[in-house]
Amino acid sequence: MEIINSNKNNNKLCYEGYMYVRKHTGKSRIAWRCSKATMLKCPGTIYTNIEKSKILEIETSHIITHRPNTNEVKVSKCYNEMKIQAKTTKTNPAHIFGECVAKLDDKSQMPPEKIVKRTLRNQRTKNNPLDSDEIVGKSLKKYD
Ligand SMILES: [Zn+2]
Repeated sequence: MEIINSNKNNNKLCYEGYMYVRKHTGKSRIAWRCSKATMLKCPGTIYTNIEKSKILEIETSHIITHRPNTNEVKVSKCYNEMKIQAKTTKTNPAHIFGECVAKLDDKSQMPPEKIVKRTLRNQRTKNNPLDSDEIVGKSLKKYD
């Protein structure tokens, strides 16, 4: 398993070709639900320890039509890395896109360059005022 740290503090958990988003943090474990839960109505749920270092339990399997997809996981990691770079460096979006996408073996699931660059620019324009928003977001999340 692997954790993708997005710059919005929404971690994604990658495990065996599936991705999960945090659903609930309990006293001793964190519940993660399938990242396709909304789109595919997939009930896939797993639990990790609080440190997010190991899987404790696989509670619900994915629906049969939702196959593991390691390439999708890679693309998602790549996209996330680009967003972080866009936000934390002054490198131009076209350059970030070029460098990160070059590392992917299969680029077919990466959205078109135009869209990615727009997203990257948005990361940047949101950057300065967003910092305070993020702090607010984090404190709100404690109560979800
Ligand atoms: Zn699923």
